[in-house]
Amino acid sequence: MYSLKFDENACALCPSPDCLLKCQYMEFDKNEAHEEMMKVVKGEDSRVLRDCVTCYACEEYCRRGNHPYYLICERREEKGLYTAPRPITNQWINMTQMQGKQMVVRTPFAVEVEEEKTAPTEFESGKHWRPMPRL
Ligand code: SF4
Ligand code: SF4
Repeated sequence: MYSLKFDENACALCPSPDCLLKCQYMEFDKNEAHEEMMKVVKGEDSRVLRDCVTCYACEEYCRRGNHPYYLICERREEKGLYTAPRPITNQWINMTQMQGKQMVVRTPFAVEVEEEKTAPTEFESGKHWRPMPRL
């Protein structure tokens, strides 16, 4: 199975930490961006973990093929820092889960469709039938 690998050395040697420099939700100068990213890499506390809105853009900004977005999410989960309070996060997760009950309620619908098919349409019942004019 394909898995994303994060290269810590790529960040340590990164000449331009675009992941955070280009972030639209936090402002850093070049040194700060590098320092904060290295804190995230080392699993230390960083304001990135609190202020990131999980927009995913840093994943595109990194030109060295690293995966800053996934690392940030992983570190946040390790520290229990979520974009929203945990109950709301749980609700979002639940909202996207397939619900067993909704999947089972197909039989009555199928019966309804079957009934509609067998009932005569207006055209079939002759309501719109007109005699052909005599030539
Ligand atoms: S994630 Fe990419 S852009 Fe950001 S510091 Fe690491 S190598 Fe540089
Ligand atoms: S995912 Fe977070 S750190 Fe990355 S660009 Fe978006 S707000 Fe910034």
